[in-house]
Amino acid sequence: MAASRSDILIPGYEQVVLHQDTDEGLRCIVALHSTALGPAIGGVRLHPYPSDLAALGDALRLAKGMTYKAAAAGLRLGGGKAVVIADPERKTPALMRAFGRVVESFGGRYITAEDVGTSVEDMDLVAEETASVVGRSTANGGSGDPSPMTALGVFRAHQVVAMELDGLESLEKTSVVVQGAGRVGYQLCRLLAEAGARLHVADLDPAAAARAAADFGARVVEPGWAHVVDCDIFAPCALGAVINDDTLPQLRCRAVAGAANNVLASPAHGEALHRAGILYAPDYLINAGGMIHVADELHGYSAERVLAGIDGISDTLATAFRIARSHGVSTSEAADRIAERRLRAAPVRVATPLATGAPAPITPISPGRHGASRP
Ligand code: NAD
Repeated sequence: MAASRSDILIPGYEQVVLHQDTDEGLRCIVALHSTALGPAIGGVRLHPYPSDLAALGDALRLAKGMTYKAAAAGLRLGGGKAVVIADPERKTPALMRAFGRVVESFGGRYITAEDVGTSVEDMDLVAEETASVVGRSTANGGSGDPSPMTALGVFRAHQVVAMELDGLESLEKTSVVVQGAGRVGYQLCRLLAEAGARLHVADLDPAAAARAAADFGARVVEPGWAHVVDCDIFAPCALGAVINDDTLPQLRCRAVAGAANNVLASPAHGEALHRAGILYAPDYLINAGGMIHVADELHGYSAERVLAGIDGISDTLATAFRIARSHGVSTSEAADRIAERRLRAAPVRVATPLATGAPAPITPISPGRHGASRP
């Protein structure tokens, strides 16, 4: 047996483990940030990280983000993340099954799902080794593609934003720039077009932008200029860190509300948006629809329950805006307060690291760099 695991002690995290299975070429890190509200849910990202340290940093940042996302969504789930250090070209069924055995070794404390570099089909393979997986194909009893539900949650957030900005019940007078017309962005364009919004779309892939233009009458914008269009809502649905030192002074929107994870380059940019008078709908709060969708597999999928969960996104966003207004804080600070209040209300659990396999030395990492990160 060529499998080994070693625990990495990271203050502020319940359990972080490096796994290796040389037979299957698997090297991965699983980070459980918190199981205070329930088992830690979080997708598995497969990426050719340049180093273990880079992979660890990503796992820690993303796992903490999942804790906040699940808490803000009102789910009885905690936050975790797995990263597999591998070239996507070398992903094999055996590798995904080996990862499934790693998930199983957490005895239900970690629930995996698809993420960048992994797919619904991969989750079907993982499910051959563990029941602690969601996001499987519908053919295998799963909930399938989460993107439409993510888009629906963001669309609902746009309705709350329009109400907050102008007291409008409808999006008919609202102009929106959707950056990225991929799986989520395309569905968001559809919902916005149906609601009568004035739509602009930008995508690095000209065919994706042209499709949204043809299907929904969106005006195509050069990808590099999406954030400078004069509009009501800028909806980043492509990349993270699009609100940064360079883009922030160029923004001409009144609000930022998109599906992309880690829209802000740093928490300081949430404060800067607040100072600039631009309303920010926190990313982890409004893009939780996909997580609500896949997590529902744990209870036997119910579309009705998922839609109720997505309604909750609107309510929580409206609450965050209210807290921000009444306490004079940024909306990102308000969202964090909501998530942290839910976490504090949970019973305290003590981590019980599983000590199996041969330990491999790894340098302890300070939590400081990751402490303030967002999902
Ligand atoms: P996707 O890969 O299907 O679509 C992304 C699109 O953005 C692609 O069409 C790509 O060409 C385009 N793009 C990339 N860089 C761009 C740029 N600089 N300018 C304009 N367009 C650009 O991804 P997706 O599943 O639609 O996810 C979009 C974002 O939402 C990601 O950040 C993802 O992490 C986040 N997210 C997705 C889900 C989900 O359910 N899929 C859930 C939560 C968060």
